Amino acid sequence: MTFATLGLADTLLQSLETLGYKTPTPIQEQAIPAILEGRDVMAAAQTGTGKTAGFALPILHSLATDGVKVGSNSVRALALVLVPTRELAEQVHASFRQYGEHTSVSTYAAYGGVSINPQMMRLRRGVDVLVATPGRLLDLYSQNALKLNKVQILVLDEADRMLDLGFANELDAVFAALP
Ligand code: AMP
Repeated sequence: MTFATLGLADTLLQSLETLGYKTPTPIQEQAIPAILEGRDVMAAAQTGTGKTAGFALPILHSLATDGVKVGSNSVRALALVLVPTRELAEQVHASFRQYGEHTSVSTYAAYGGVSINPQMMRLRRGVDVLVATPGRLLDLYSQNALKLNKVQILVLDEADRMLDLGFANELDAVFAALP
């Protein structure tokens, strides 16, 4: 099994080659085809097993090949990745950037503990993939800095940890705002 046989776009294969990823890990082998088919996936695997690429690659593939992009002033996200902490937000965002380097898919990370204004400014231009912590996402949403009515893909990364950290109500509020 190779990344090419999974049917990923050449632009993504190029990044994987640069990164030296030779073959998909077991979770990638199972998750990537299912996500490319548009199915819902629930996956559990230990840290370091390549989970992030398991969802980032098929999401980037879908957004890079379906031709749908956010408008330049649309305050919209097409894919939303919720994560429990700002560290994970930065890490997941960095992975999307690395893998998507040769695509025109735009990505951004928004989290609490830092000023909200630069995040509002950036979101005004719209973003294809938004990685966010639930609390800051809701702040941005309630201040009309972001519309969630075009979200096509939702990822709950480390969902167990989000619930452990008490984000259940925030998650319900985000779900209510999704189409
Ligand atoms: P993760 O479990 O998503 O945190 O990934 C763990 C590490 O494995 C990260 O540093 C990735 O860059 C790396 N990685 C992910 N997928 C592969 C792969 N197929 N081949 C080699 N390294 C990978």
